[in-house]
Amino acid sequence: MAGTLYLCATPIGNLQDMTRRVIETLRAVDVIAAEDTRNSIKLLNHFDIHTPMTSYHEYNKVEKAEQLVGQLLEGKQIALITDAGTPAISDPGEVLVRMCQERNVPVTSLPGPCACITALTLSGLSTRRFCFEGFLPADRKERRMVLEELKQESRTMILYEAPHHLKGTLEELYDSLGNRRITLCRELTKRFENIMPTTLEQALAYYKAEEPRGEFVLVLEGKSFQELRQEEIASWETMTIEEHMAHYEGQGMDRKSAMKQVARDRGVGKREIYAHLCS
Ligand code: SAM
Repeated sequence: MAGTLYLCATPIGNLQDMTRRVIETLRAVDVIAAEDTRNSIKLLNHFDIHTPMTSYHEYNKVEKAEQLVGQLLEGKQIALITDAGTPAISDPGEVLVRMCQERNVPVTSLPGPCACITALTLSGLSTRRFCFEGFLPADRKERRMVLEELKQESRTMILYEAPHHLKGTLEELYDSLGNRRITLCRELTKRFENIMPTTLEQALAYYKAEEPRGEFVLVLEGKSFQELRQEEIASWETMTIEEHMAHYEGQGMDRKSAMKQVARDRGVGKREIYAHLCS
């Protein structure tokens, strides 16, 4: 029978956030796969855990996942930990989980600290609908595409960023999205935790004078529905009725439904659209 892969969340800055279940699991498994064994040994020593470790990181994630899945299929129990937080969130864990699923190896997750959720709850921004972007792509073209998409995002957005890229990213966000509310969450759960609810403009001004230090999560306000609606109306206004109709018919709507929708968008009666099209 195959063993189980245990995704074990570890503290993002405060050792007291380690759960009892994670400690017990890390003691009980045959092997712990860790993103950085030198880093994780401190955590294991602190909790008196003596299970052998093996490294599983960004640069060996595919070959190593193969090996780990092989061990799991032989019946070994394996735990995955990353440098901090929940495995598979902006770290190589995702590859291993997918491979386990493909080979019918059971995977379970032991929930615990995660920087994005901790930041969201502290942001003061809407938590009802949100999306997690992680790190913006390093590739310039992909990055531009993601920023373009985010312009119209109405959900609260959560981003990870390294301190040495913070100013650049704030500038790009400001240039693409305009001024928005943003909460910068720094050094979460650590001694110098700092939550800064501000705007993109003010954050940029602040970090012009101040060198960013520590770990950051950026929580950004989504575009309001009111703003999206106004933009939509403005875009209809630049179209002729024929173009507006073609827009919906191009999406597969029949003529009658398209007329109804065009009338609704323009805030006029259906008859008016019909009369225009038949004139
Ligand atoms: N798997 C982790 C999790 O569950 O959040 C995230 C790993 S990702 C490689 C590391 C990024 O998470 C950092 O660059 C930072 O953006 C964010 N992060 C991790 N710990 C943090 C903390 N204590 N305070 C603020 N941000 C943190």
